[in-house]
Amino acid sequence: MGKLIRAITGDGTIVAYALDATDMVQRAVDIHQTSAVVTAALGRLLTAASMMGVMLKGKDDSITLRVKADGPAGTLLAVSDSEGNTKGYVENPVVEIPLNTAGKLDVGAAVGHHGTLQVLKDLNLKEPYVGHTPIVSGEIAEDITQYLATSEQVPSVCALGVLVNPDLSVRVAGGFIIQLLPFADEAAIEKLEQNIKHVPAVTTAMDAGQTPEDLVRQALDGFSVEILDERTAGYVCDCSRERVENALRSMGETELRAMIAEQGGAEVVCHFCGQKYQFNVPELKGLITPK
Ligand code: ZN
Repeated sequence: MGKLIRAITGDGTIVAYALDATDMVQRAVDIHQTSAVVTAALGRLLTAASMMGVMLKGKDDSITLRVKADGPAGTLLAVSDSEGNTKGYVENPVVEIPLNTAGKLDVGAAVGHHGTLQVLKDLNLKEPYVGHTPIVSGEIAEDITQYLATSEQVPSVCALGVLVNPDLSVRVAGGFIIQLLPFADEAAIEKLEQNIKHVPAVTTAMDAGQTPEDLVRQALDGFSVEILDERTAGYVCDCSRERVENALRSMGETELRAMIAEQGGAEVVCHFCGQKYQFNVPELKGLITPK
């Protein structure tokens, strides 16, 4: 589990979130067996989802980030609860492409440069809130920044990073999101912009041993910073046999009878964690609700 902190400046005009997502992203690699560039892409999306999960107001609220663009990785998905616990999925876990001109994993090329970031918030209302923004670069952090600025109208700075070892394990992963509240003054904005120009990359900072709190204090250098809370967040899948049963039940009698006749049972695999759920014929028959 990694540490996730929430902080605010002394004048209450800037809020910040920062996360050490190293364990979270390693778990994603263990489950999905991603190649390095996909680890970076999915890891960045999971990190962002976790911090945006903590922004939710209700305890049972959840947020889903879906990136659908024209790169070889296909659709990427990250879901977080309000405690920052996440799970994720990627359509094509293994993508092999050359490093970019800066010698870094080319996340933008793996994700694609044309497409949509969809943000779905389940706030336990009748309908979920859904926002869309076009992909800016496919590098994820810029796409999240764009979404927050245009769809939620909160000027934000988002930095995300995943460093992958040669053996494909995760060396460090994490990031921060800083948000300006409506009454932030020009001087504060300017100071923040100057700071952001000079902060090292998230992976460089974390690889040198910096904590989420260090990331925030560095980005908010010159401001008084109060840590509001800290918690642990990890890769957590909430699937269960009961949920799978409900999903099967909702497929309806015709589908279930076809499964019984054609396959003599069913195996359902959770997309997020790989857990397998087996159903034999009597169990499937038990899910058919009489009309
Ligand atoms: Zn699962």
